Amino acid sequence: MDRLNIPQERIRNFSIIAHIDHGKSTLADRLLEEGKITDERTSKEQILDSMDIERERGITIKSNSASFIYKAKDSNDYLFNLIDTPGHVDFSYEVLRSLYACEGVLLLVDATQGIQAQTLANFYLALEADLIIVPVINKVDLPSADIDKVKEQIEKSLGLNPDEAIAVSAKTGVGIEDLMESIVSLIPASKSEKNLPLRALIYDAYFDAYRGVIQKIRVFDGEIKVGDTIRFMSNDKQYPVNDVGITQLDLVSLKSLAAGEVGFLVTGMKNVSEVMLGDTITTASKSADEPLMQYKEVKPMVFAGLYTVNGEDYELLKDAIEKLALNDPALVYDLESSEALGFGYRVGYLGLLHMEIVQERLEREYSLNLLTTAPSVQYRVKIRDKDEVREIDNPSEFPESGIIDYVEEPYVQVTIISPAQYLGNILNLLQEKRGENQDIIYLDTETVQIIYHLPLSEMIFEFYDGLKSVSRGYASLDYELFEYKKSDLVKLDILVHHNPVDALSTIVHKTNAESRGRVLIEKLRKLISRHQFQIALQAGIGSRIVARENIPALKKNVTAKCYGGDISRKRKLLEKQKAGKKRMKMVGSVEIPQEAFSSVLSK
Ligand code: GDP
Ligand code: MG
Repeated sequence: MDRLNIPQERIRNFSIIAHIDHGKSTLADRLLEEGKITDERTSKEQILDSMDIERERGITIKSNSASFIYKAKDSNDYLFNLIDTPGHVDFSYEVLRSLYACEGVLLLVDATQGIQAQTLANFYLALEADLIIVPVINKVDLPSADIDKVKEQIEKSLGLNPDEAIAVSAKTGVGIEDLMESIVSLIPASKSEKNLPLRALIYDAYFDAYRGVIQKIRVFDGEIKVGDTIRFMSNDKQYPVNDVGITQLDLVSLKSLAAGEVGFLVTGMKNVSEVMLGDTITTASKSADEPLMQYKEVKPMVFAGLYTVNGEDYELLKDAIEKLALNDPALVYDLESSEALGFGYRVGYLGLLHMEIVQERLEREYSLNLLTTAPSVQYRVKIRDKDEVREIDNPSEFPESGIIDYVEEPYVQVTIISPAQYLGNILNLLQEKRGENQDIIYLDTETVQIIYHLPLSEMIFEFYDGLKSVSRGYASLDYELFEYKKSDLVKLDILVHHNPVDALSTIVHKTNAESRGRVLIEKLRKLISRHQFQIALQAGIGSRIVARENIPALKKNVTAKCYGGDISRKRKLLEKQKAGKKRMKMVGSVEIPQEAFSSVLSK
């Protein structure tokens, strides 16, 4: 195909945004079906979720997109570009980039759940991108669907016209045809300008083993043609246009893409980290002046050490993490070594979900047995009498208190939406976590929205599970980085048999140090088995011990019970011990099971 033969006024670029599990991927399937892009051969459930792990967990991690033709009731063919976005808060910049590529969004709300925290967060992103927002109420096939209640919320808390909301079932197909017609009538065609110099937004990229880096673009002005030389506006780098086209499950090459169109671009890049996601490209010869959106570098928020259980697998980890990073520009990593754990990496993640996904993919796709340390945030430590602020994301690098002027830690603004009956419980939890009340709003008589400022370090420590349990799973959570604030923080060391274990140290608020220390060594006491000698476990701040426990010495040698027995039993017992040892780390003369390094400090 040379070019698309659909005029700009019949192109609809849109996304579906929703809280997790409200049916975004299922709805995408129905739309694609309606657009006759899928058939029995290619159809599998949730076709846009291409990673196995996404299917299994039912979440969309990387955004994906597809173009398809819809023959409308006015008997014209329309080109729909459906741009899928990840629904989770860890990835809000990815959502925003994808939204900039659109003219409108379908804001999907589960009729049995109503508006939840990420519905709101996504709604605000769509407003920020200045899009037409079409409310869609999903799962109307379920007996517990309450369409009127959701309409009330749509009107009250979003200020949208509830009569425009389209009721559908992505599962049974009810209402899908109406929805297709509404996309035609409510979502505008782009106002892109064909005669201006090229401006195209790069909203996503991924690595393809055969073609190299595939960049996903939306052309706003002008035209991009094979053979052109393009320039990234943020860093002035230039690349040749080797291929462009549209994504219809497979990539379909075209000679060019013009204003208003969405598609892919191949420039011969080998590594996704070269792509400036959110950047604007223009032609090198006839350049535009202004970028489309403010380019923003994505910053990791949560950091943790990553090691292999078997030290000799380090090279495999190195290889795996390099390969994974090829496709995940948000993944930041640096070499790290720990006295207790040997060589590994300090990895920066966008959030806890991102961390979980990366670790799971490394273990699953690269058959690695990993050990991770407790997650930490990035602290800013001002050094006394010096014009120096250190950014510390590894507790073992925290300076000794004598040289610290003050410490700042990142705070997040959290938004929680919950049935009102759990309000008291939730406020107690937030208080415990050093939260500061900002606002409490009733969305309807039974639903409350709570806005708090909370240290990020508290949010990544037992907060999410706590929220789920005090609200019986009904509360939903969204957060965004708010600002750095001064806090009274100290480094809590864990000493095993008088040796500080670097991988177990943690930064805590002074008022929590003693209780946190006690909890930690109590957990550790249960994990470390008895040795030939008594083991002292201590938690300390500097030289001050705040908590202590002892593990008494073993009474007998284990092999003693085989004494006089046959040698093969004895050998088996030794082999068993040896296998057990593989999952142990020696600290001084004490064996610590590997699970201690992650389970003691997190969850
Ligand atoms: P996403 O996280 O927003 O992408 O949600 P999914 O599309 O993965 O859907 C979450 C769950 O809701 C899945 O089990 C779907 O089968 C189910 N689901 C989605 N739409 C409907 C619907 O209209 N009716 C019913 N009964 N279930 C639905
Ligand atoms: Mg999904």
